[in-house]
Amino acid sequence: MTDYSTKLALYIGGEWLGSEGRETVHPLNPATGERIGDLPVATKADLDRALDAAQEGFAQWRDTPGAKRAAVLRKTAALLRERADHIAKIATTEQGKPLTEAKGELGATANLLEFHAGEAERIYGRVLPRPTGTRSLVLHQPIGPVAAFCAWNFPILNPVRKLAPAIAAGCSIILKPSEETAASAIEVMHCFRDAGLPGKVAQMVFGVPDEISRHLLASPVTRKLSFTGSVPVGKHLMKLAADTVMRSTMELGGHGPVLVFDDCDLDKTLDMLVPHKFRNAGQVCVSPTRFHVQEGIYEKFAAGFAERTKALRVGAGMDSDTQMGPMANPRRPEAIEEMVENARSEGAKIVTGGSRGGSNGGFFFEPTVMTDVPMSARVMNEEPFGPLALIRPFGTDEEAIAEANRLPYALAAYCFTENGRRQNRLGDEIEAGMIAVNQLALSWPDSPFGGMKDSGFGSEDGPEGVAAHLITKTFHMK
Ligand code: NAD
Repeated sequence: MTDYSTKLALYIGGEWLGSEGRETVHPLNPATGERIGDLPVATKADLDRALDAAQEGFAQWRDTPGAKRAAVLRKTAALLRERADHIAKIATTEQGKPLTEAKGELGATANLLEFHAGEAERIYGRVLPRPTGTRSLVLHQPIGPVAAFCAWNFPILNPVRKLAPAIAAGCSIILKPSEETAASAIEVMHCFRDAGLPGKVAQMVFGVPDEISRHLLASPVTRKLSFTGSVPVGKHLMKLAADTVMRSTMELGGHGPVLVFDDCDLDKTLDMLVPHKFRNAGQVCVSPTRFHVQEGIYEKFAAGFAERTKALRVGAGMDSDTQMGPMANPRRPEAIEEMVENARSEGAKIVTGGSRGGSNGGFFFEPTVMTDVPMSARVMNEEPFGPLALIRPFGTDEEAIAEANRLPYALAAYCFTENGRRQNRLGDEIEAGMIAVNQLALSWPDSPFGGMKDSGFGSEDGPEGVAAHLITKTFHMK
C-alpha cells in the first residue's frame, strides 16, 4: 500500500484530471485482493477533449525535428531508470509479478525508448531516378493521431510499446492502458512529461474500455489503431476500424508451441524452459505453452519439468524469495481452474499443481504441469494465459511441424535441437511471427515483435514499429 502512492488520474491536454465529478473504478492488489485506489472514468466530454488535444498535438509534433523528438525519448528513458525502484514497486503492487521481474521489465522499457530515440533520427525518404529536370520523391510522414489500447501483463512496457513509436514518428496519441495497472502507466507518463514532451502530444484515459474505443475509433481525428490484448477484442476493434478504413496494428494472443527433439541438451533445455514458462505466472502472450517432446526423451523431460516446477517458490511479488507471484486479476485463476478441470475430465494427468493454492485472498494459482492432455481438451486449443505447462509426445519431424501449425494462433514458437538442417526446416515451415531455437529470448528493441494468423498483424519494435506509424506519399515534380 505504501508503495502505491501514485495519484490516479486521466492525462489530457497536459493536465491531470482526478476523480472529482467522475465515476471511479478500483484497482486491486493481486497478492491480497484488496482495493488499492480510485481511478477516474473518462466521460464522453473528456474523450472529446482528448481528441481535440490530440489533433492540436499532432500539428505541433509532426513539425518538431526528429532530433528533438529523440531527445525527449532519451530523457524519458533516463528518468525511468532514475525512478526504477519506485516504479517497479508500483508495478508489482498492482500487477503481482515478482519485484525482480518488474525491475527487468523496467530496464527493457528504457532500452526500448533509447532504440526509438535513434529511430526518430532516421526517418528518411527516397529520391527516384528520373530524366533531368524531373524528380520523384518518396516521403514518409507521420500518419496522425493514434488510438492505442493495451493489456495489463507488462504494465510498464506495454504503454511504452504504444507511446514510443508514435512519438518517434511524429504522431500524437491517446492511450488507454489497462484500468487494472493504471499507476504504472501514469508513472511512465510522468517521465515523458518531465522529459519535456509537450502536453497535447500524448493523452492517457481510463474508463469503460468498449465505450472509449467506440468513441475514439468513430472520430475522423483518429488515423491509426494499435491494440494489445485478446483475439476476440482485437477482432471486435478491427470491425470498428473498418468503418473509417483505419490503419491498424494487432498484437493478440498466442499458444506457444515448444518442439523438443531427442538430440537437444535436455538438462540445459529444462533449466531454461521451466522459469520461462512460469515468468509472470504464465501471463505472457509469447509464453511457451504446449510442449511437444520427441518420444525418446518424453518420460525424462516430463519428470524433469515436474521436479523443477515443484521447487518453485510461489508468493507475493514483494517477497524477495518469490519466484512466481499471483495472477493479475480474479478472472485469471477462475479461467485457469475451469481449463484444468476440463482437461482433467477429458483424461489429462496432473503431475503437479492443478489448484488455486495461496492465501490472503490473493489471485494465486499453482504452477501446473499436465501430461497426456487430449487434443480435445479446451486448453490444447484456447490460450490459457496462465501457469500451465501441457506436455505431449511426438514421433517424427512432420508430426511436430503439423502440431506447431495446427492452431489459428501464430505468435511465438520455440524449438530445441542441435541438428542444423532441422533448425533451418523449422524456420521455414513453422507458422509464427517469432521463432527461437535453443533459446527463449525473442524480444529485443531492434527486432520486430508480432504475429500471424489470429495472433495479429503489423509489428511493434524494430524499424517496422515506427514504420507502422508513417504514411508513404509519392511526390512527382517537373
Ligand atoms: P482483453 O482483450 O479483454 O483485455 C486486454 C486489454 O484490452 C485491457 O487493457 C482491456 O481494458 C482492453 N480492452 C478490453 N476490451 C476492450 C475494448 N472493447 N476496447 C478497447 N480496449 C479493450 O484481454 P484480457 O483477458 O484482459 O488479457 C489477456 C489477453 O491479452 C490474452 O489473450 C493475451 O494473449 C492478450 N495479450 C496479448 C499480448 C500481445 O502482445 N500479443 C500482450 C498481452 C496480452
